[in-house]
Amino acid sequence: MKVHLLIIFLYLILTGCTVTNGTQNETVNKAINLQQTIINDPLFEKILTELETSGQIDWSEGRTDYIREKLTSYKSNTDWLLSEYKNKGGFNKDSVFLWRKFNPLSSTTAVTSQCIEKTKLNKWNLNRNEYSILNTLIHERVHSFCQVHPKGKQTREANKCDASYVAGDLAEILISHRMGIKEKVMDKPICPALLQKIEEYKLIVIK
Ligand SMILES: [Zn+2]
Repeated sequence: MKVHLLIIFLYLILTGCTVTNGTQNETVNKAINLQQTIINDPLFEKILTELETSGQIDWSEGRTDYIREKLTSYKSNTDWLLSEYKNKGGFNKDSVFLWRKFNPLSSTTAVTSQCIEKTKLNKWNLNRNEYSILNTLIHERVHSFCQVHPKGKQTREANKCDASYVAGDLAEILISHRMGIKEKVMDKPICPALLQKIEEYKLIVIK
């Protein structure tokens, strides 16, 4: 009897943890397709560039340590980031995977190893709309370009104005604005400078 239970348990763990393709999930598929729309949106570039010019994007504490390009040959770190998005685009549809993190209560939305052209979304946190998943993809893409969060400081709170969070949040807000959504609940801390831009450009009312 015990052996049977163990087999069932192992089966559930193994099948639950299996990595599958992101395109199998309709909402993820939509988000994958929206990446290029946002990368091509002139306001995406404009707002990120303005935030960089006023020194509001946080590149401190080793965030750029793994970037292979010579950052000094760009106008700014954000200029480098925008050129990465433009040249490489978003994640290819074959580079987005889904898996279930062992802990169902984890707040992890995705995992991307630095400089690796693929990302894995946590299936426990997929009950979201495509704009929110787009936020995650645009964020994770920055890690695939080799940007990292500071060691021991992986939380959103500690990275509010980190380029990956600013770009992801801007993508979610901008696509919502373009889709005619007037207000939005953002229940996570957002970079204050980005909030100002959202107001300045009247993109959406954040609740
Ligand atoms: Zn991150």
